[in-house]
Amino acid sequence: MRRLAVVGCFLCAMMTWAQPQAFRVVATTTQAADLVTILADGAQGVEITALMGPGVDPHLYQPTESDIAAMNQADMVVYSGLHLEGQFGAVFRALAERGVKIFSLGEVVKAAGFVVEVEDGSGVDDPHFWFDPLNWALATEALAEALAARDPANAEVYRQNAADYVVQLERLNEWALAAMQSVPEDRRHLLTSHDAFFYFGVAFGWQVDAVQGISTEAEAGVGDIQEVVQQILAEGIPVVFVESSVPPNTIRAVVEAVRAAGGDVRMGVRDLYSDAMGGSDSFGGTYIGMVAENVYTILQSFACAGVDLTISDWPDGLLPTPPAELLEFTCPTA
Ligand SMILES: [Zn+2]
Repeated sequence: MRRLAVVGCFLCAMMTWAQPQAFRVVATTTQAADLVTILADGAQGVEITALMGPGVDPHLYQPTESDIAAMNQADMVVYSGLHLEGQFGAVFRALAERGVKIFSLGEVVKAAGFVVEVEDGSGVDDPHFWFDPLNWALATEALAEALAARDPANAEVYRQNAADYVVQLERLNEWALAAMQSVPEDRRHLLTSHDAFFYFGVAFGWQVDAVQGISTEAEAGVGDIQEVVQQILAEGIPVVFVESSVPPNTIRAVVEAVRAAGGDVRMGVRDLYSDAMGGSDSFGGTYIGMVAENVYTILQSFACAGVDLTISDWPDGLLPTPPAELLEFTCPTA
């Protein structure tokens, strides 16, 4: 056995000499994986593993055995943080003890003073910081520095990619702000199934409410649904939205209860992306596309409900470009 081990090690050393070892980065959420991929574009020898796919709810996602194996072998694990990955606590503690670099994007934003606590007085941080594009820009710059420190051979690539991407995020932010602010102030009310849009609301001047709290772990009760129904009836909120990573039952129950009470509310023309992005080959499968598609979905839904608004033209040079089916949308006939 000992002899075999020696041979094994000798071969291993030969392979290392022949081929430099990859810098292995594991990202938990779809947003984290997108950011690592953008920053590593053009870097040599970087291997990226994404754990969660489109439509996966990170509050509830349990790391699989292969996820844990990938994280154990990683040079760096990038995660969203602030307890978004609710089932990863023990794994992260074990990785930190083993000296694996674990990098929380949310902690960067918290250290800069832009993370808010949930309003219920519990002192819990709201983890959905990425919905303010300027928060995402902060996370971008900090992640580039962390990657550069661990993988100095590619440091300049990470830094240049971050600088270019921050310009893109600022353009996205300007476009989304102008579009979202075109809705009359007294109609700016976004109602979703779980409370993922607080930062989005603050960034773009909208009031946001949800049936469930900031995590999907606690299910909505009858009381929660009734409260939202009363709010819709009292304020005449025209649209409620389903999220791609949350089952639609709660929002369907809200719509049925409003209609049963003689009110009128419609579902959004598409699901919103909240905690997970779209498929990797889709517009919503990028951070910029996800935010932009949400803006189109919200505004087209409000326009279909008769609200007067203007969606500004897509900025020149902002990539990816929205697909024709998003731009040439027509309202479904009732
Ligand atoms: Zn969430």
